[in-house]
Amino acid sequence: RGVCRFRFVSDLLNPNGSWKVNLLETYFYPCDVEEILKIRASPRQQDDTIAWGPGRLGSFSVRSAYNFAFDDSVRSSESASSSSPNGTRKCWDFIWKTNVPPAVKFFAWRVATNSLPTWPNKRKRCLEESDLCPVCQREPEHTFHALCRCQNSVNLWNCMSTIWPLPNLGDVQHNGPEWLLHALQPLSENVRCMLLFTLWRCWHVRNEVVHLKPVPPLEVSKNFLSS
Ligand SMILES: [Zn+2]
Repeated sequence: RGVCRFRFVSDLLNPNGSWKVNLLETYFYPCDVEEILKIRASPRQQDDTIAWGPGRLGSFSVRSAYNFAFDDSVRSSESASSSSPNGTRKCWDFIWKTNVPPAVKFFAWRVATNSLPTWPNKRKRCLEESDLCPVCQREPEHTFHALCRCQNSVNLWNCMSTIWPLPNLGDVQHNGPEWLLHALQPLSENVRCMLLFTLWRCWHVRNEVVHLKPVPPLEVSKNFLSS
């Protein structure tokens, strides 16, 4: 935060590999300090080398990058934080093995790990002053509000329900950070796809409004999704 004269990570480390906590606290926000302190540096004073962690012997390959994006990131998110959804592998299959484009899967993963740039998430990093929903200003813009309770999302959900057998929106509840996985669980594979597509579009509509563009008409969204 603010101006930092240090250029290298090593400037923030003691010779024994421990972090210089006072420096971290000076230059980073508390939530980031907490994450940085989870990283253990080597106590051995070896020269640095450039290595690609997910690859064999540190070398990069497209295959290893693909596997990293679709598997390792999920595993690490499950083990890195007790507050993130830690459903069984089968639960995550509701997202990763659903027949939707990678962009929609990645979006769903961001919903399930609360890593979308919602206003509360941006406020944590001091990028926004308020956590109120930028669309309706009625309550904090948590992911569940943005996708299932904010009026534009409700309208789109209801509109898509006229052609797709989506679950009743009132039955979809915020029962913790895993709400999306819970919502997907009882659905058939086909309806899971429909739900993920609908939520993905809800977020797109939300982004249009946040970027001061007109709300895409429901018919446009409906035609886009059904095609
Ligand atoms: Zn709202």
